[in-house]
Amino acid sequence: MTPLADRLLAQIATTGPMTLADFMQTCLLDPEHGYYTTRTPFGVKGDFVTAPEISQMFGEMIGLALAQSWLDQGSPTPFTLAEAGPGRGTMMADILRVTRGIHGFHDAMRLVLIEAAPTLRALQADALPDHHPAWIATVEDLPKRPLWFVANEFFDALPIRQFQRAGDGWAETVVTRYDDGLGFARAAPTPVRALEHRLADTTEGDIVELCTAAQPIAATVGQRIAAHGGAALIIDYGDARSLGDTFQAVQNHGYVNPLETPGQADLTAHVDFEKLARAALPAVAAPLTTQGEFLERLGITDRAQALAARLSEDALDRHVAAHRRLTHPEEMGTLFKILALTPPGMPRVPGT
Ligand code: SAH
Repeated sequence: MTPLADRLLAQIATTGPMTLADFMQTCLLDPEHGYYTTRTPFGVKGDFVTAPEISQMFGEMIGLALAQSWLDQGSPTPFTLAEAGPGRGTMMADILRVTRGIHGFHDAMRLVLIEAAPTLRALQADALPDHHPAWIATVEDLPKRPLWFVANEFFDALPIRQFQRAGDGWAETVVTRYDDGLGFARAAPTPVRALEHRLADTTEGDIVELCTAAQPIAATVGQRIAAHGGAALIIDYGDARSLGDTFQAVQNHGYVNPLETPGQADLTAHVDFEKLARAALPAVAAPLTTQGEFLERLGITDRAQALAARLSEDALDRHVAAHRRLTHPEEMGTLFKILALTPPGMPRVPGT
């Protein structure tokens, strides 16, 4: 039992079963016992490895795509370069290194990081010593000026609610108390307005997830971009439409029971990209691209070969494995998608 499990059990005893969204929010961001607030989960020694931690090539491709998009829109000055959920700051460090040579880009850029966890803000400051980022807690606080926005594995960490189809209604998954521990249950079915459009493409017993926190974030980013110029690259696992139970917990590079160690495992769900794209209107979404295709179009293989020329033995093997891991369909290549947003009438972000 974790300290957070005791508290959640006490809360359920007082106020009844809780939604997955409330459970996720507490487990991930509780100031005292939350997963992101108390630990550094990324990397080989942590619980999971993300694309920027696999190879510098990931951030480099993203950085060049963003810079080209900035050039394509007439190099507006000043502009915000923002990242949501930067983790250890690795991707942003790679983006900044690779764009150093783009004339005017760094001078025009104002760097903004959206991060909830104070411990991670400190790591990000260490990773970006020369760039004086401004930290904000929510996208609402993004300045009203041209915005180039990037987020890798951020939206999957936002709290979801989960429902099972029952007739024309939906039975919500809740976390409740069983004997001494936590367990899942389903609430009585009710109609859910936000899922009315899913009655057409689901049948009895199907599971659908709803990320209520993601939509206002996508809406704000979309409005800023449509009004002031810019672009967004949202990279995550998921599909065009949510279907099935994707709520998962990862600890020490393996899947665990999400209710077993609250606050000590990463909790995520797949991203429903269609909903994000719809929320981001009037910004225009490019067709959803797989990570493998996106990176190939941007020339990751040429970059991989150039880097390989300087490597040998173990370092070369690791580099080849990293390239494969980022792009191959059986690894991250097709599970991860890129949603790219641009203002109406502007060129797409390269690679999308
Ligand atoms: N992008 C990084 C880290 C991904 S983990 C990488 O690819 O390695 C998710 C990140 O989002 C963490 O930095 C976490 O602290 C942050 N985060 C999670 N929920 C958040 C919220 N509601 N607001 C701001 N940041 C959040």
